[in-house]
Amino acid sequence: MTAEEHICEIGRRMYARQLVASNDGNISVRTADGVIITPSLTSKGFMKPEDMLLVDMDGRIIKGTGKPSSELKMHLAVYSKRPDINAVVHAHPVAASAFAINGRAVDQRYMAEAVMTLGPIPVAPYARPSSGEVAESLSPFIEGHNGALLSNHGAVTWGVDLTEAYNFMEQLEFYCKTVILAEMTGTPRPLP
Ligand SMILES: [Zn+2]
Repeated sequence: MTAEEHICEIGRRMYARQLVASNDGNISVRTADGVIITPSLTSKGFMKPEDMLLVDMDGRIIKGTGKPSSELKMHLAVYSKRPDINAVVHAHPVAASAFAINGRAVDQRYMAEAVMTLGPIPVAPYARPSSGEVAESLSPFIEGHNGALLSNHGAVTWGVDLTEAYNFMEQLEFYCKTVILAEMTGTPRPLP
């Protein structure tokens, strides 16, 4: 599977699992040739490998005909701060976005996987989506975390490869959903 095909597959999964609605979200992968990123204004559930754009670290288009995702700067900010990271996933998952609207970080010690694998997910201050300001607001949180919530917007996760970046997003949403249900059905108890 090429990197472009893998992005399409992850996009279909994001859409099917309702981690994004409409044309929301974006996905990128860093390769030896540059950063491959999803096009703007395209549903993540219906992308084709040839829709992808290849850009350099300054965001200049190397290959592709469409317009790169409007959150390109946010993806490049992660890559420039984290040489160990090769994939970034941005989505608007319902439960994680609810945490983001409340400005509530994901740092409760309720479930082992969330503590051991995902780690604490901080909340970056609000920045207007697609404005380029998102990269700045996210910047202080890139090191030492596997992702962040974007205030009143959504979530972003990153990983050594696309599978890891996506798994963090799925895990983050699962955790937020479970915490919300736990709070609705009783008083959550932290891990012993
Ligand atoms: Zn967004």
